[in-house]
Amino acid sequence: MNKPVERISRNIVRILGLNPGPFTLQGTNTYLVGSGPRRTLIDTGDGEQPEYFVNLRNTLGASLIDRILLTHHHGDHVGGISQILSSPMVTPSCTVYKHQPVDATHKDVSEGQVFRVDDVELTALLTPGHTADHVSFVMSEDGVKYLATGDMVLGQGTSIVESLGPYMQSLGRALALKPDVLLPGHGPVVSGQDADDNIKAVQVIDGYIKHRAMRERQIEDVLRNRVPDDNGSGWSEEMITLVIYPDITDPRVRRAAQNNVHLHLVKLESEGRAHRVDGRWLAD
Ligand SMILES: [Zn+2]
Repeated sequence: MNKPVERISRNIVRILGLNPGPFTLQGTNTYLVGSGPRRTLIDTGDGEQPEYFVNLRNTLGASLIDRILLTHHHGDHVGGISQILSSPMVTPSCTVYKHQPVDATHKDVSEGQVFRVDDVELTALLTPGHTADHVSFVMSEDGVKYLATGDMVLGQGTSIVESLGPYMQSLGRALALKPDVLLPGHGPVVSGQDADDNIKAVQVIDGYIKHRAMRERQIEDVLRNRVPDDNGSGWSEEMITLVIYPDITDPRVRRAAQNNVHLHLVKLESEGRAHRVDGRWLAD
């Protein structure tokens, strides 16, 4: 059961975007940070759910939003901006921050940039891959390290990726931070420890890395060690997909799987481990 408004910590409240769907899980998570009169909001929902704005206003009480931090440009994260900015919920100086801003009124976010809200320090971590402009935010409160992951890591399932090389590097950076709690853009907040005392937040990131690494090994193995059906002119992405994902029958799922294979091949190509000739892939 997802509560539309849920307190995560002294300074962090999750407010659900109320836009559930096949690509957004239970909807987009937005996070209101701070405990004083001027708060920071991470992401804004899709802008099409009136109830979201009611919940946001009720959560704010007498406080106001002074800063909006955006994880990336996708509509379900930025759609609420104009309605929030034109509402009485914001201070006159409320500023929107986004890496690689396209809107001239937005301010850029750079690697390591620090934002302070009451006794919380938010630090920007550039994490491209899901999109080129993707940013995560690290927060420390009472010795607990929170990582607002946007769409890099979700509370469940796997994320859709634009560019796999940068994505894997971003996951590696997130893992190195050893966060205690993940505040994902979709799905449940990840916190606590498993039965073996492993930190779940770290386990989830590690699982993302291992899953992608396993697929990469499988694909490289096909290119290196198996002979294509047509005897030698190389592997089409379709053929590789059939080998790696033999059980997928739904054409939409197969298309998504083939896109994953494509992303891995492009990464291998950029690392000099594979090349293509006339749309057919060969190992280097
Ligand atoms: Zn997204």
